[in-house]
Amino acid sequence: MTSIDSRCTAASAEAPPPTTGRRKSLLFCPTCEFESSADGNWIVRATADERELVCPDCRSTVATR
Ligand SMILES: [Zn+2]
Repeated sequence: MTSIDSRCTAASAEAPPPTTGRRKSLLFCPTCEFESSADGNWIVRATADERELVCPDCRSTVATR
């Protein structure tokens, strides 16, 4: 008997302090022009062997990595 206890640790209120001088690459949604940094407000959807960044506005896949 195997019990897989996979807990999704969703950090809901994680606000990093504003650091000036370190620029993160911005990603743009081609559909609705939503923009955010690569680790910003995107919905991260894990697939078999990679992660997809999904636009929180229109739910289109913006990037895979
Ligand atoms: Zn969008």
